Amino acid sequence: MNISTVTPTEIDWSQLFNALNIGLILVDSNGEILLWNEWISKHSGINYLSAINQPLELVFPEKLPAPFVAAIKRCINTKLPVVLSNALHKYPLPLYSPQKSDEKLSQSVILNPIKDNQGNWNCLIQVTDSSASIKREKMLRDHSETHKKDATTDPLTGIYNRRFFDSHYKIEMNQAMRQKTTLSLLMLDIDFFKNYNDHYGHPAGDAAIIAVATCIRTTMKRSSDMVARYGGEEFIVLLPNSTPAAAQMLAENIRSAVEDLKIPHLNSLIAKHMTVSIGVSSFLPGMVVDATTFLKNTDLALYAAKQKGRNQVQFLPL
Ligand code: GH3
Ligand code: MG
Ligand code: MG
Repeated sequence: MNISTVTPTEIDWSQLFNALNIGLILVDSNGEILLWNEWISKHSGINYLSAINQPLELVFPEKLPAPFVAAIKRCINTKLPVVLSNALHKYPLPLYSPQKSDEKLSQSVILNPIKDNQGNWNCLIQVTDSSASIKREKMLRDHSETHKKDATTDPLTGIYNRRFFDSHYKIEMNQAMRQKTTLSLLMLDIDFFKNYNDHYGHPAGDAAIIAVATCIRTTMKRSSDMVARYGGEEFIVLLPNSTPAAAQMLAENIRSAVEDLKIPHLNSLIAKHMTVSIGVSSFLPGMVVDATTFLKNTDLALYAAKQKGRNQVQFLPL
Protein backbone atom coordinates (compact mmCIF):
# COMPACT_ATOMS: atom_id res chain seq x y z
CA MET A 1 0.00 0.00 0.00
CA ASN A 2 1.57 3.30 -1.00
CA ILE A 3 -0.09 5.71 1.36
CA SER A 4 1.49 8.87 -0.02
CA THR A 5 -0.40 8.48 -3.28
CA VAL A 6 -3.67 8.36 -1.40
CA THR A 7 -3.28 11.61 0.48
CA PRO A 8 -0.78 14.42 0.51
CA THR A 9 -1.24 14.95 4.25
CA GLU A 10 1.45 13.55 6.49
CA ILE A 11 -0.30 10.91 8.53
CA ASP A 12 1.38 8.60 10.99
CA TRP A 13 -0.44 5.44 9.95
CA SER A 14 0.86 3.29 12.76
CA GLN A 15 -0.41 5.87 15.23
CA LEU A 16 -3.80 5.77 13.52
CA PHE A 17 -3.98 1.93 13.55
CA ASN A 18 -3.04 1.95 17.22
CA ALA A 19 -5.68 4.53 18.08
CA LEU A 20 -8.48 2.40 16.63
CA ASN A 21 -10.89 0.75 19.00
CA ILE A 22 -10.84 -2.45 16.97
CA GLY A 23 -8.22 -5.14 16.56
CA LEU A 24 -6.28 -5.36 13.30
CA ILE A 25 -3.93 -8.13 12.19
CA LEU A 26 -2.63 -8.41 8.64
CA VAL A 27 -1.26 -11.81 7.60
CA ASP A 28 0.27 -12.87 4.30
CA SER A 29 -0.49 -16.04 2.35
CA ASN A 30 2.00 -17.95 4.54
CA GLY A 31 0.17 -16.86 7.65
CA GLU A 32 2.94 -14.47 8.75
CA ILE A 33 1.99 -11.37 10.64
CA LEU A 34 2.56 -8.04 8.81
CA LEU A 35 0.54 -5.77 11.04
CA TRP A 36 -0.48 -6.04 14.69
CA ASN A 37 -2.15 -3.06 16.31
CA GLU A 38 -2.22 -1.85 19.88
CA TRP A 39 -5.78 -3.12 20.50
CA ILE A 40 -4.64 -6.68 19.76
CA SER A 41 -1.61 -6.26 22.08
CA LYS A 42 -3.86 -4.97 24.82
CA HIS A 43 -6.28 -7.89 24.55
CA SER A 44 -3.77 -10.69 23.93
CA GLY A 45 -0.93 -9.59 26.21
CA ILE A 46 1.46 -10.10 23.27
CA ASN A 47 3.39 -7.01 22.18
CA TYR A 48 4.06 -5.87 18.64
CA LEU A 49 7.71 -6.96 18.59
CA SER A 50 6.93 -10.53 19.68
CA ALA A 51 4.28 -10.83 17.00
CA ILE A 52 5.51 -9.08 13.89
CA ASN A 53 6.86 -11.39 11.12
CA GLN A 54 5.90 -14.45 13.19
CA PRO A 55 3.43 -17.08 12.00
CA LEU A 56 0.01 -16.23 13.42
CA GLU A 57 -0.55 -19.81 14.47
CA LEU A 58 2.59 -19.83 16.66
CA VAL A 59 2.26 -16.45 18.32
CA PHE A 60 -0.51 -17.35 20.72
CA PRO A 61 0.03 -19.70 23.63
CA GLU A 62 -3.09 -21.68 22.61
CA LYS A 63 -3.88 -23.42 19.37
CA LEU A 64 -6.15 -21.38 17.11
CA PRO A 65 -9.48 -22.98 16.16
CA ALA A 66 -9.15 -24.88 12.88
CA PRO A 67 -12.24 -23.25 11.28
CA PHE A 68 -10.69 -19.82 11.93
CA VAL A 69 -7.37 -20.78 10.31
CA ALA A 70 -9.26 -22.30 7.37
CA ALA A 71 -11.30 -19.11 6.98
CA ILE A 72 -8.10 -17.02 6.64
CA LYS A 73 -6.81 -19.34 3.90
CA ARG A 74 -10.19 -19.23 2.18
CA CYS A 75 -10.21 -15.42 2.28
CA ILE A 76 -6.80 -15.25 0.55
CA ASN A 77 -7.55 -18.02 -1.98
CA THR A 78 -10.99 -16.80 -3.00
CA LYS A 79 -10.10 -13.10 -2.58
CA LEU A 80 -13.47 -12.70 -0.93
CA PRO A 81 -14.34 -11.33 2.52
CA VAL A 82 -15.39 -13.77 5.23
CA VAL A 83 -17.65 -12.88 8.14
CA LEU A 84 -17.34 -15.27 11.08
CA SER A 85 -20.69 -15.81 12.69
CA ASN A 86 -20.51 -14.90 16.35
CA ALA A 87 -22.82 -17.76 17.23
CA LEU A 88 -20.47 -20.35 15.71
CA HIS A 89 -17.15 -18.69 16.47
CA LYS A 90 -17.44 -16.95 19.78
CA TYR A 91 -13.71 -16.84 20.56
CA PRO A 92 -11.72 -17.15 17.30
CA LEU A 93 -8.62 -15.64 18.95
CA PRO A 94 -7.40 -16.10 22.54
CA LEU A 95 -8.18 -12.52 23.53
CA TYR A 96 -9.12 -11.36 27.00
CA SER A 97 -10.80 -8.42 28.60
CA PRO A 98 -8.06 -6.03 29.85
CA GLN A 99 -10.13 -5.47 33.03
CA LYS A 100 -10.73 -9.14 33.79
CA SER A 101 -7.74 -11.07 32.55
CA ASP A 102 -9.41 -14.47 33.06
CA GLU A 103 -12.49 -13.59 31.01
CA LYS A 104 -12.25 -14.49 27.33
CA LEU A 105 -13.46 -11.78 25.03
CA SER A 106 -16.30 -12.71 22.71
CA GLN A 107 -15.47 -11.42 19.29
CA SER A 108 -16.94 -10.46 15.95
CA VAL A 109 -14.42 -11.12 13.21
CA ILE A 110 -14.37 -10.02 9.59
CA LEU A 111 -11.64 -11.16 7.20
CA ASN A 112 -10.84 -9.00 4.16
CA PRO A 113 -8.50 -9.85 1.27
CA ILE A 114 -5.96 -7.09 0.62
CA LYS A 115 -3.47 -6.90 -2.30
CA ASP A 116 -0.02 -5.43 -1.66
CA ASN A 117 2.15 -3.48 -4.11
CA GLN A 118 3.77 -6.68 -5.41
CA GLY A 119 0.38 -8.16 -6.24
CA ASN A 120 0.40 -10.63 -3.31
CA TRP A 121 -2.83 -11.26 -1.48
CA ASN A 122 -2.96 -10.85 2.28
CA CYS A 123 -5.74 -11.17 4.80
CA LEU A 124 -6.78 -8.34 7.10
CA ILE A 125 -8.31 -9.70 10.29
CA GLN A 126 -10.64 -7.19 11.86
CA VAL A 127 -11.75 -7.96 15.43
CA THR A 128 -14.38 -6.18 17.52
CA ASP A 129 -15.49 -6.84 21.08
CA SER A 130 -19.00 -8.25 20.89
CA SER A 131 -19.51 -8.95 24.59
CA ALA A 132 -21.65 -5.82 25.00
CA SER A 133 -24.05 -6.88 22.25
CA ILE A 134 -24.10 -10.45 23.56
CA LYS A 135 -24.93 -9.17 27.04
CA ARG A 136 -27.73 -7.08 25.56
CA GLU A 137 -29.11 -10.11 23.69
CA LYS A 138 -29.03 -12.17 26.88
CA MET A 139 -30.81 -9.41 28.76
CA LEU A 140 -33.55 -9.30 26.13
CA ARG A 141 -33.89 -13.09 26.21
CA ASP A 142 -34.13 -13.14 30.03
CA HIS A 143 -36.65 -10.34 29.83
CA SER A 144 -38.91 -12.28 27.51
CA GLU A 145 -38.62 -15.37 29.75
CA THR A 146 -39.71 -13.26 32.71
CA HIS A 147 -42.57 -11.94 30.61
CA LYS A 148 -43.74 -15.45 29.78
CA LYS A 149 -43.58 -16.35 33.48
CA ASP A 150 -45.52 -13.22 34.42
CA ALA A 151 -48.35 -14.29 32.15
CA THR A 152 -48.82 -17.62 33.95
CA THR A 153 -47.99 -16.95 37.60
CA ASP A 154 -49.62 -14.99 40.37
CA PRO A 155 -47.22 -12.23 41.44
CA LEU A 156 -48.14 -12.42 45.16
CA THR A 157 -47.79 -16.16 45.76
CA GLY A 158 -45.69 -17.36 42.83
CA ILE A 159 -48.15 -20.17 42.09
CA TYR A 160 -50.10 -20.37 38.81
CA ASN A 161 -52.73 -17.73 38.13
CA ARG A 162 -56.34 -18.21 37.13
CA ARG A 163 -55.58 -17.59 33.47
CA PHE A 164 -53.13 -20.47 33.39
CA PHE A 165 -55.50 -22.68 35.34
CA ASP A 166 -58.32 -22.03 32.84
CA SER A 167 -56.23 -23.12 29.86
CA HIS A 168 -54.63 -26.07 31.67
CA TYR A 169 -58.00 -27.21 33.03
CA LYS A 170 -59.49 -27.36 29.53
CA ILE A 171 -56.64 -29.57 28.34
CA GLU A 172 -56.91 -31.92 31.36
CA MET A 173 -60.69 -32.11 31.05
CA ASN A 174 -60.54 -33.00 27.34
CA GLN A 175 -57.93 -35.64 28.08
CA ALA A 176 -59.98 -37.17 30.93
CA MET A 177 -63.04 -37.38 28.67
CA ARG A 178 -61.13 -38.83 25.72
CA GLN A 179 -59.11 -41.32 27.74
CA LYS A 180 -61.91 -42.05 30.20
CA THR A 181 -59.89 -41.26 33.30
CA THR A 182 -60.71 -39.65 36.63
CA LEU A 183 -60.11 -35.96 37.32
CA SER A 184 -60.71 -34.28 40.66
CA LEU A 185 -60.97 -30.62 41.63
CA LEU A 186 -60.61 -28.89 44.99
CA MET A 187 -61.81 -25.36 45.52
CA LEU A 188 -60.48 -23.73 48.66
CA ASP A 189 -61.41 -20.47 50.37
CA ILE A 190 -60.01 -18.86 53.52
CA ASP A 191 -62.64 -18.49 56.24
CA PHE A 192 -63.62 -15.02 57.46
CA PHE A 193 -60.79 -13.44 55.56
CA LYS A 194 -62.46 -10.06 55.34
CA ASN A 195 -62.42 -9.95 59.14
CA TYR A 196 -58.75 -10.94 59.10
CA ASN A 197 -57.88 -8.05 56.81
CA ASP A 198 -59.97 -5.64 58.83
CA HIS A 199 -58.23 -6.63 62.05
CA TYR A 200 -54.63 -7.30 60.99
CA GLY A 201 -54.36 -5.06 57.94
CA HIS A 202 -53.92 -5.73 54.25
CA PRO A 203 -50.14 -6.50 54.32
CA ALA A 204 -50.72 -9.18 56.99
CA GLY A 205 -53.56 -10.48 54.80
CA ASP A 206 -51.13 -10.76 51.89
CA ALA A 207 -48.66 -12.66 54.06
CA ALA A 208 -51.42 -15.07 55.13
CA ILE A 209 -52.40 -15.70 51.50
CA ILE A 210 -48.75 -16.52 50.72
CA ALA A 211 -48.55 -18.86 53.74
CA VAL A 212 -51.71 -20.73 52.68
CA ALA A 213 -50.50 -21.02 49.05
CA THR A 214 -47.17 -22.44 50.24
CA CYS A 215 -48.95 -24.82 52.58
CA ILE A 216 -51.16 -26.18 49.78
CA ARG A 217 -48.18 -26.58 47.50
CA THR A 218 -46.11 -28.48 50.03
CA THR A 219 -49.01 -30.76 50.96
CA MET A 220 -49.58 -31.84 47.34
CA LYS A 221 -47.71 -34.98 46.36
CA ARG A 222 -47.77 -35.72 42.64
CA SER A 223 -45.99 -33.67 40.01
CA SER A 224 -49.10 -33.81 37.79
CA ASP A 225 -51.18 -32.06 40.49
CA MET A 226 -51.39 -28.31 40.09
CA VAL A 227 -52.54 -25.45 42.28
CA ALA A 228 -53.54 -21.98 41.18
CA ARG A 229 -54.73 -18.82 42.87
CA TYR A 230 -58.27 -18.56 41.65
CA GLY A 231 -59.24 -15.26 43.24
CA GLY A 232 -58.35 -13.04 46.21
CA GLU A 233 -58.29 -15.70 48.94
CA GLU A 234 -59.46 -18.59 46.80
CA PHE A 235 -57.36 -21.42 45.41
CA ILE A 236 -58.08 -24.26 43.04
CA VAL A 237 -56.31 -27.62 42.88
CA LEU A 238 -56.43 -29.93 39.87
CA LEU A 239 -55.76 -33.61 40.46
CA PRO A 240 -55.53 -35.83 37.38
CA ASN A 241 -56.15 -39.57 37.95
CA SER A 242 -57.28 -38.92 41.50
CA THR A 243 -60.32 -40.79 42.84
CA PRO A 244 -62.98 -39.05 44.97
CA ALA A 245 -61.55 -40.77 48.06
CA ALA A 246 -57.96 -39.72 47.31
CA ALA A 247 -59.04 -36.17 46.49
CA GLN A 248 -60.99 -35.88 49.75
CA MET A 249 -58.04 -37.24 51.68
CA LEU A 250 -55.71 -34.65 50.14
CA ALA A 251 -58.27 -31.94 50.83
CA GLU A 252 -58.43 -33.00 54.47
CA ASN A 253 -54.61 -32.99 54.66
CA ILE A 254 -54.54 -29.44 53.29
CA ARG A 255 -57.29 -28.31 55.67
CA SER A 256 -55.49 -29.65 58.71
CA ALA A 257 -52.10 -28.39 57.50
CA VAL A 258 -53.51 -24.85 57.27
CA GLU A 259 -54.98 -25.21 60.76
CA ASP A 260 -51.56 -26.41 61.98
CA LEU A 261 -49.97 -23.19 60.70
CA LYS A 262 -51.67 -21.60 63.72
CA ILE A 263 -51.96 -18.20 62.09
CA PRO A 264 -53.78 -16.18 64.80
CA HIS A 265 -57.21 -15.00 63.64
CA LEU A 266 -59.01 -13.38 66.55
CA ASN A 267 -61.96 -12.25 64.41
CA SER A 268 -62.77 -15.62 62.97
CA LEU A 269 -66.17 -16.73 64.19
CA ILE A 270 -65.26 -20.43 64.24
CA ALA A 271 -61.67 -20.73 65.54
CA LYS A 272 -58.78 -18.81 67.07
CA HIS A 273 -56.63 -19.54 64.03
CA MET A 274 -56.89 -19.22 60.30
CA THR A 275 -58.92 -21.99 58.67
CA VAL A 276 -60.05 -22.92 55.19
CA SER A 277 -63.13 -24.51 53.66
CA ILE A 278 -62.70 -26.89 50.75
CA GLY A 279 -65.14 -28.17 48.13
CA VAL A 280 -64.29 -31.38 46.28
CA SER A 281 -65.75 -32.78 43.09
CA SER A 282 -64.67 -35.60 40.78
CA PHE A 283 -65.17 -36.32 37.12
CA LEU A 284 -65.43 -40.08 36.67
CA PRO A 285 -64.65 -42.19 33.55
CA GLY A 286 -67.48 -42.21 31.05
CA MET A 287 -69.34 -39.19 32.45
CA VAL A 288 -70.81 -36.75 29.96
CA VAL A 289 -70.22 -33.39 31.60
CA ASP A 290 -68.78 -30.14 30.30
CA ALA A 291 -65.89 -28.35 32.00
CA THR A 292 -68.04 -25.44 33.22
CA THR A 293 -70.55 -27.71 34.94
CA PHE A 294 -67.75 -29.61 36.68
CA LEU A 295 -66.26 -26.35 37.92
CA LYS A 296 -69.65 -25.07 39.09
CA ASN A 297 -70.24 -28.30 40.97
CA THR A 298 -66.91 -27.86 42.80
CA ASP A 299 -67.93 -24.32 43.71
CA LEU A 300 -71.23 -25.68 45.06
CA ALA A 301 -69.27 -28.17 47.17
CA LEU A 302 -67.28 -25.24 48.61
CA TYR A 303 -70.51 -23.39 49.28
CA ALA A 304 -71.78 -26.43 51.16
CA ALA A 305 -68.58 -26.50 53.27
CA LYS A 306 -69.17 -22.84 54.17
CA GLN A 307 -72.85 -23.44 54.93
CA LYS A 308 -72.14 -26.42 57.16
CA GLY A 309 -69.88 -24.34 59.39
CA ARG A 310 -66.56 -23.78 57.52
CA ASN A 311 -63.16 -25.31 58.38
CA GLN A 312 -64.19 -28.52 56.65
CA VAL A 313 -64.14 -30.53 53.41
CA GLN A 314 -67.34 -31.25 51.49
CA PHE A 315 -67.62 -33.58 48.53
CA LEU A 316 -70.43 -33.12 46.05
CA PRO A 317 -70.97 -35.85 43.44
CA LEU A 318 -71.38 -34.62 39.87
P1 GH3 B 1 -65.97 -16.53 53.97
O1 GH3 B 1 -65.60 -17.30 55.18
O2 GH3 B 1 -67.42 -16.63 53.70
O3 GH3 B 1 -65.13 -16.85 52.82
O4 GH3 B 1 -65.73 -15.00 54.37
P2 GH3 B 1 -64.63 -14.05 53.80
O5 GH3 B 1 -64.56 -12.86 54.70
O6 GH3 B 1 -63.38 -14.78 53.62
O7 GH3 B 1 -65.19 -13.73 52.37
P3 GH3 B 1 -65.27 -12.44 51.54
O8 GH3 B 1 -65.35 -12.87 50.11
O9 GH3 B 1 -66.37 -11.54 52.07
O10 GH3 B 1 -63.90 -11.67 51.77
C1 GH3 B 1 -62.76 -11.95 51.07
C2 GH3 B 1 -61.76 -10.90 51.44
O11 GH3 B 1 -60.51 -11.16 50.84
C3 GH3 B 1 -62.17 -9.53 50.95
C4 GH3 B 1 -60.89 -8.92 50.42
O12 GH3 B 1 -60.61 -7.72 51.08
C5 GH3 B 1 -59.84 -9.93 50.75
N1 GH3 B 1 -58.84 -10.04 49.69
C6 GH3 B 1 -59.00 -10.40 48.40
N2 GH3 B 1 -57.83 -10.39 47.73
C7 GH3 B 1 -56.88 -10.02 48.63
C8 GH3 B 1 -55.46 -9.83 48.54
O13 GH3 B 1 -54.80 -10.01 47.50
N3 GH3 B 1 -54.81 -9.45 49.66
C9 GH3 B 1 -55.48 -9.24 50.84
N4 GH3 B 1 -54.78 -8.87 51.91
N5 GH3 B 1 -56.81 -9.41 50.94
C10 GH3 B 1 -57.50 -9.80 49.85
MG1 MG C 1 -63.82 -15.80 48.82
MG1 MG D 1 -63.24 -16.38 52.31
